[in-house]
Amino acid sequence: MHAEIVMIGTELLLGQIVDTNASYIGQILAENGINLYQKATVGDNPQRIRHVLEDALSRADVVLTSGGLGPTEDDITRECVAELTGRPLEFRQELYEQLAERFARFRRPITENNRKQAYAPRGAIAIPNPNGTAPGLIVEDKRGVIICMPGVPHELHAMLSDSVLPYMRQKWGIEGVLHYRVLHVCGVGESRVDALIGDLIVESDNPKIGLLAYPDSVRIRLSARARTMEEANTMIDALEARVRSRLPGLIMGTGHETIEGVVDRMLEERGWKLAIAETYTGGAAAQRLVAAGAHSFAGSFVQPPTASEALDAAAARLVDETRKRFPAECVLAISSHVEERRAWVLFEWPEGRAEWEIGFVQLDALNQVRGAVVALEHVRRALAGVPDEVADGKS
Ligand code: ATP
Ligand code: MG
Repeated sequence: MHAEIVMIGTELLLGQIVDTNASYIGQILAENGINLYQKATVGDNPQRIRHVLEDALSRADVVLTSGGLGPTEDDITRECVAELTGRPLEFRQELYEQLAERFARFRRPITENNRKQAYAPRGAIAIPNPNGTAPGLIVEDKRGVIICMPGVPHELHAMLSDSVLPYMRQKWGIEGVLHYRVLHVCGVGESRVDALIGDLIVESDNPKIGLLAYPDSVRIRLSARARTMEEANTMIDALEARVRSRLPGLIMGTGHETIEGVVDRMLEERGWKLAIAETYTGGAAAQRLVAAGAHSFAGSFVQPPTASEALDAAAARLVDETRKRFPAECVLAISSHVEERRAWVLFEWPEGRAEWEIGFVQLDALNQVRGAVVALEHVRRALAGVPDEVADGKS
């Protein structure tokens, strides 16, 4: 059994967007042991789309497409598949109702173009799209199966793992599971994490360890191939225990957990509120807590970075000002000196007070995210009682 992929969109040919969907699909298919033999990219032109699909179907058992399911004039994938497979496009009341419900939820009027997305080729299986308006489509033609997904990356990602892969596994009797778990480490560089668990990474095969560096964290991905989910989880549990023993107290969370969510939970458990004063991070720490719906967040303000004052004195002054403005058991202050490229974090909580100099490379959005995350990670470690030495050996 083998697959091919067809990426649809003139912007891809013009180089206006980078085709991240193809590499994503490629990676997921490989992880699931599905052979991918060829990829094509085609613009929004009906003859060429039909031709490319027909060509792929002549070789592959399944052709996966991305893009062109939207409501606009140039979104023509649905029409091309209908024509190619000789199935009329039929209006489906249930798809229309799902669309109308989504529009109502976002308080937007449903337009005439959106009706287009309620049509499907006769006999096609509609795939739910929890993140967008365009449902995906599975058409089982005698030449092979065509699976159409939207171009918007997060819509495609969800559809692929939630619906398309389960469909393919069942249809072609693909055995076993590939399961993974992600551990998050904040405020420690990728190279430092690598120094601590590099040997485990090298020797790991199944279960396997991968490192991914993001602006806000280093993610350690533990993946296992096994017969059942239970078996995979057991394998991952054992590996996770080994990784944790190398990084004591430094695993901030797992899966979808975030530093702001974890800090909020710890504060809530203790019945404490947190007020914040920020400088160069411009409110990025507060913004994360607000976006996470943190009940422990008491308020914050932003001041320009220091020009002459010493950083520790500036942080102490910010703490005093914060205490005057907000009633809170805990106060976090981030002071900084842009020219000296230095930043300072001071945290006071009912059981202690601690301060740290944190890395400050330059003033831009990425470093604001880093600064906010590192400050919150210091809060987490202080509350969890993780000694500073554990994270040191700085990278
Ligand atoms: P929509 O309902 O939003 O119109 P669609 O299925 O019609 O979705 P397209 O119109 O082809 O998809 O693409 C929508 C957006 O998704 C593009 O503007 C682009 O930002 C992104 N996108 C499309 N194809 C890809 C791709 N192959 N890789 C990465 N991003 C893509
Ligand atoms: Mg579109």
